[in-house]
Amino acid sequence: MKSQYDVVILGAGHNGLVAASYLGRAGLSVLLLEKNNYIGGATTSQKVFPDYDAQLSRYSYLVSLFPEKIIRDLGLSLELRRRATGSFTPYLNHGQHDGLLLSNVDEETSRQSMLELTGNKTEFEQMKAFYNLSRVFAEKVWDTMLEPLIAKGELRRRFDADDVSREAWRSLVEEPLGFAIERYLQNDLVRGLVFTDAKIGVLTHPHDSSFLQNRCFIYHLVGNKTGEWKVPVGGMGAVAGELEQAARNAGAEILTNVDLRALSLTGKGRTVEFYKDGEQQTVEARYLLVNFGRNVLAKYIGQLYQPDATDEGSVFKINMLLRRLPKLKAKRYQSDQAWCGTFHSDEGYEQMNVSYDQARSGRLPNKTPCEVYCHTLTDDSILAPELREKGFHTMTLFGLDAPWNLFVRDNRTMRKHAEKKFVESINQWLDEPLEDCLAVARDGSLCIESKSPVDIEDALGMFQGNIFQNAPTFPFAQRKEQVGTWPQCRDEGAGHSEENVDRSTPKGFASSSPVFLDMPDANPNDVASIDAIIAATYDGISGAAGEQRDWDRERSLFYPGARLIPTAKPGANDGLSPQMLDVDGFIARVEPYFAENGFFEKEIARRTEQFGHIAHVWSTYESRHNADDPEPFMRGINTIQLFYDGNRWWIVNIYWQQESAEDPIPVKYL
Ligand SMILES: Cc1cc2nc3c(=O)[nH]c(=O)nc-3n(C[C@H](O)[C@H](O)[C@H](O)COP(=O)(O)OP(=O)(O)OC[C@H]3O[C@@H](n4cnc5c(N)ncnc54)[C@H](O)[C@@H]3O)c2cc1C
Repeated sequence: MKSQYDVVILGAGHNGLVAASYLGRAGLSVLLLEKNNYIGGATTSQKVFPDYDAQLSRYSYLVSLFPEKIIRDLGLSLELRRRATGSFTPYLNHGQHDGLLLSNVDEETSRQSMLELTGNKTEFEQMKAFYNLSRVFAEKVWDTMLEPLIAKGELRRRFDADDVSREAWRSLVEEPLGFAIERYLQNDLVRGLVFTDAKIGVLTHPHDSSFLQNRCFIYHLVGNKTGEWKVPVGGMGAVAGELEQAARNAGAEILTNVDLRALSLTGKGRTVEFYKDGEQQTVEARYLLVNFGRNVLAKYIGQLYQPDATDEGSVFKINMLLRRLPKLKAKRYQSDQAWCGTFHSDEGYEQMNVSYDQARSGRLPNKTPCEVYCHTLTDDSILAPELREKGFHTMTLFGLDAPWNLFVRDNRTMRKHAEKKFVESINQWLDEPLEDCLAVARDGSLCIESKSPVDIEDALGMFQGNIFQNAPTFPFAQRKEQVGTWPQCRDEGAGHSEENVDRSTPKGFASSSPVFLDMPDANPNDVASIDAIIAATYDGISGAAGEQRDWDRERSLFYPGARLIPTAKPGANDGLSPQMLDVDGFIARVEPYFAENGFFEKEIARRTEQFGHIAHVWSTYESRHNADDPEPFMRGINTIQLFYDGNRWWIVNIYWQQESAEDPIPVKYL
């Protein structure tokens, strides 16, 4: 190991490995530092049950979003194999067990199966029409995935070509996904199985106003323009292995079992301190790339990480080794036909509304939606020959509506409880209990392993077990300043200061979270005291007509999630009411006015109350169009709540009312 590198990459997940390969090939010296004793992060295969030689994809298991361009550029030797069955959804019809089978290779089988379920011929055509929207979307968006972000408006214009394209944009971007699903599909089971792609890994519902469901759905349906999820031959470990080789061939050095201690980001260079084999090491880098989430980064750079509510992970993963495939109650299809695709259980549309509500209210749903995959039916190379001969298989269960919040207080008990419920969900469709089919370890325990969101965060650092690191974003710039940036910058505030720190996540990968905290750094002089932060607040909004304000300075004063609350009359005949704005909402509101009018505001009186870390400032202000106008055109009172975090002051809220004839400012506040 050298003491200086061009680039140090923190984390050796697949995105870190891809970045290392490209940078090494560009002639840069690269060091990758990984905390675990294995390489690949969530893309790993492991011998989960030590008594059996079976390499299970422990976390992620199917590939769709890995851009073919990267595979070609890096010369990776990967075989991604199609599953013969897309999905199988068992159901009960008048007491008879049956199943909806959607084949990847025989459309007629799917059509017939849909007819058996719904009794009408149009549902299958409607489903095709619905999925065609995603195809159209993918056609227009996929190629932008490895490019800097384009503006939402520009992308939308590409959809102006014809009615289907416009419908695709509307359905996936402009209205909650539930509308399109309900417009196109009538059958509850079909609606449900389509909707699962919108909630794999996150807690959401069809009419979620945050559009989390749309964003999640898009990433599950655009991969390489087809959205098809394929089995990597050799398991996910084969993907990580190829990437590791590519990175090493490009000259990258990789260290595992690294205990990262500190990052120093001052000045031009970057310094990384860590322990390896009990010895303290320090390396310098020109650039630092961060492969783990913003939550982990925040810890090392001493910043607050303020997640959005939609960032919470919601996944329960079960890995199993089976002695034989369980027999199904539904007899219409052969067992291996049913198990080799995505096997849906308790994923009806209405039922998932119920399970969402139950999970949201803090309990494990009565019926736990989940899906099961048996990859050894598509690729049995992950099993040792003797296991193959004996008919062993691996199975993965992916549980939905299992948010981090349910597990964080007592992970052990809840994990056990959840495992039981998810297995019960599958058992309702089986002729024999799943437990009877599981392999048994030498110590008599069953070969089943469960991972809650808490376990996933512990193992990989993914925030609250979110498989995307945090909530997936739309694949376009939401704000003007994001246009032309790389996706990792998409959510950062403009003008971040860590100019040599970057996320190594290309947009087309399953994870595309930004690295920087949304918050620009504050000038320490602005936030050192209550006096300083109040002065900076007034100063930041003051200026001549058309003068560009330093909005990042303004943003840096406010605690994440802070509100600015003018009291105003929404309509001419309305009474006063508080207008709840966040910092950017406030900026958007005042910018047009500031463009046309000079505005100088200053404090003329103050009362302060303080206890511990909290303070309240009652601040009377005057506003002028020119700094030296003899009289103000407006006065009022700001009530300002503040917080001291041990290092600096933050504004939590500013709430104000202007003076008026009915409400003159009392003399005691002047
Ligand atoms: C249960 C599960 C199932 C999934 N299924 C699929 C799937 O089937 N298909 C798919 O495409 N995606 C799937 N995903 C998502 C996908 O695996 C991830 O989005 C992807 O692996 C992210 O890759 P990454 O390189 O950005 O991050 P990661 O794989 O998370 O890599 C980050 C790396 O940083 C390391 N790290 C963390 N903290 C530190 C530290 N302090 N110091 C040093 N290193 C550190 C971690 O150990 C890890 O190796 C799944 C994820 C999970 C958890």
